[in-house]
Amino acid sequence: MKLQSLRGFNDILPADTAIWQHVEATAAATFAAYGYREIRTPLLEHTALFKRAIGEVTDVVEKEMFSFDDREGDNLSLRPEGTASCVRAGLEHGLLHNQQQRLWYAGPMFRHERPQAGRYRQFHQIGAEVYGVPGPDIDVEVIALSARLLRRLGLDGVQLEINSLGNSDSRARYRQALTGFLQQHAAALDTDSQRRLLSNPLRVLDSKVPATQALVADAPRITDFLDDDDRAHFDGLQQGLADLGIDFVVNPRIVRGLDYYARGVFEWTTTQLGSQGTVCAGGRYDGLVTQLGGAATPAVGWACGIERLILLMKAANVETPSQAPHAVLCTQGDAAARAAARLGESLRDALPALRLVVSAGGGKLKSQLSRADRLGAAVALVLGDAELADGVIQVKSLRNAAEPAMIAQSELPGHLGGLLHT
Ligand code: ATP
Ligand code: MG
Repeated sequence: MKLQSLRGFNDILPADTAIWQHVEATAAATFAAYGYREIRTPLLEHTALFKRAIGEVTDVVEKEMFSFDDREGDNLSLRPEGTASCVRAGLEHGLLHNQQQRLWYAGPMFRHERPQAGRYRQFHQIGAEVYGVPGPDIDVEVIALSARLLRRLGLDGVQLEINSLGNSDSRARYRQALTGFLQQHAAALDTDSQRRLLSNPLRVLDSKVPATQALVADAPRITDFLDDDDRAHFDGLQQGLADLGIDFVVNPRIVRGLDYYARGVFEWTTTQLGSQGTVCAGGRYDGLVTQLGGAATPAVGWACGIERLILLMKAANVETPSQAPHAVLCTQGDAAARAAARLGESLRDALPALRLVVSAGGGKLKSQLSRADRLGAAVALVLGDAELADGVIQVKSLRNAAEPAMIAQSELPGHLGGLLHT
């Protein structure tokens, strides 16, 4: 058997890790700018957690989880999303009761879906979760944070769509009206949707089957079933976004794929990724903490798919910081080769931000120089036995044809310092 990676599980190769690290660092800095703190939870949890949190009649729980019995016979699942674990950890460590928490996380999630561009079986999310704040001001804050993150990543072409799912009473009234409508059209629905018509009719609204999508365009709208409190919350959300100059459209079809959402929900979408057009999605989930055994705690959050962000950044040719070495130290002669490592260490002592590769393994100067060129270095430092004896070194630009300069080794830190901002 030829050993290969699993379908839908990707290697992220060195050519790509620069953009990944840029996205992760930008996210961490953006969360810090709003006072959010990172939480890290395990990749593996009891399957029961996800069933209870996400809902039994959802795509994720019905067909997308990687679940198995371990050696003790416990049924475990790789996490398909981050919110359930976040609430579980918050309850387990007493972070949620009567307090405000602004949290974020990043890491791999696992769903057994059909792999295609922007849809994988191991994918990565960056997410925010806030606990303990009931008002729409915090919904506005988490959305503003996501807007700033997208902007800092150079993604200006994404659109914000919002909706309200109401509280559980208004949703119950809506559910009845929706079921009535769907029953009249049951024959035209796809089989999944027919089955869900009675068990979870709201799920029919986010079906990805085109015929079903066309049909539900005429279905009753949840926004017509909101009560006064829901309406006030939704108005507050819209007013808050308008106050911050964040453009949005109300899309009454957004129901989100996980059952725990209530009231405000939102998605950042693009037309550039086909049916993988949602890059970031979230909303309020006030009922989840009680559903998992805690005291009633208001909660709101979102998650972005990193792969989709990166696909969009590449499509938009967004520039990301270079990780190419500033300099490669090449050597000629045995004494110079032996001295190179020590010179390299002293340069790194003097310039902590310097990215310096020291040639290793010997070889001709010419091949060392072409390796330096392939690494994308700005300059090659050439140290021969003669230079070593004289305490000098040659600095050769790899970006232009300028004559190499011979300088004293003691001047190198000052000389290279100018490259650090390139
Ligand atoms: P979709 O409708 O595209 O299946 P979803 O509603 O299942 O998305 P969420 O559970 O809300 O997605 O996850 C939040 C984000 O995570 C999505 O907007 C998307 O960017 C990303 N995401 C979800 N599933 C995948 C996947 N299989 N591969 C890559 N990214 C994903
Ligand atoms: Mg999905």
